[in-house]
Amino acid sequence: MKEIDWSNLSFGYMKTDYNVRCYYRDGKWGELELCSEETLNIHMAATCLHYGQEAFEGLKAYRGKDGKIRVFRPDANAERLQSTCRGILMPEFSTEKFCEAVRMVVKANERFIPPYESGASLYIRPLLIGTGAQVGVHPANEYLFVVFVTPVGPYFKGGFATNPYVIIREYDRAAPLGTGTFKVGGNYAASLRANKMAHDAGYASEFYLDAKEKKYIDECGAANFFGIKDNTYVTPLSTSILPSITNRSLMQLAEDMGMKVERRPIPEEELTTFEEAGACGTAAVISPIERIDDLENHKSYVISKDGKPGPISEKLYHKLRAIQYGDEPDPYGWVMIVD
Ligand SMILES: *Cc1c(COP(=O)(O)O)cnc(C)c1O
Repeated sequence: MKEIDWSNLSFGYMKTDYNVRCYYRDGKWGELELCSEETLNIHMAATCLHYGQEAFEGLKAYRGKDGKIRVFRPDANAERLQSTCRGILMPEFSTEKFCEAVRMVVKANERFIPPYESGASLYIRPLLIGTGAQVGVHPANEYLFVVFVTPVGPYFKGGFATNPYVIIREYDRAAPLGTGTFKVGGNYAASLRANKMAHDAGYASEFYLDAKEKKYIDECGAANFFGIKDNTYVTPLSTSILPSITNRSLMQLAEDMGMKVERRPIPEEELTTFEEAGACGTAAVISPIERIDDLENHKSYVISKDGKPGPISEKLYHKLRAIQYGDEPDPYGWVMIVD
């Protein structure tokens, strides 16, 4: 095999040796199967292709200084996938089976887990799709669960840094009572235009306000938002955002650091009051926000005056990474060791 240049990996797909599959037929899930095929052979009338019966997840495995392989909170991803399945009428996949599939795929692709020193990790992508043929709008009677992995580079190649975001009002990612709280591909299709607009204009990502009133903060592209002020970690409460596991973990760590944690609607104007703010998710853990531009209203909310990440974001970032890589104790049992 060609040597992998661990220090120059991007967030892209690289073929690995195996994926794990499980089929739902006759009303039940079968056994986990190890597969070396990269492609899926599915019916052209599969519901995932026509009616968006598709759910996915994203998590990572990290190689520690001690050589051990750690996966961060797979049980939380399993539970979120179950919630998504209930949301779009797909059969739930048990937490036990989910964690077993993750363990199996990570173990089978062990040679693709980047070394500790590289700061890179192994991205794990589970998906669950309706494969049964259906022309009328109904849930399928057959499903496929697949989990594959691909090594990905460290998000911050030049070190932990801030990014600019832009408020987009032309397009919504999700409706208040829509599928925003579920991790479905359809939300991403809905976000592509806003995301392209933001990237074309030189921003890291689009920034969404709530779809109904356009008054409150929803999400930063495909990441949750948090702001910090007066020793308080503030994150939006909304019916259209995806419950981020990174955000949930950061809320716990903020509390442990003696901060107050608030989950409530955050009006756009409140952006002027934050000492620090960030976008959070599995990919970057925290992507600190430099500023948020509201082009239509000729406003720019400058969060980082000196363009650098704030001290609390930095502390939270390093704390969570230390738990993920096994550099520090894991008091909440967040980490699953694969051996
Ligand atoms: C996956 C996702 C996130 C981040 O969730 P994590 O569990 O922290 O990775 C945030 N927002 C959206 C829309 C997402 O799809």
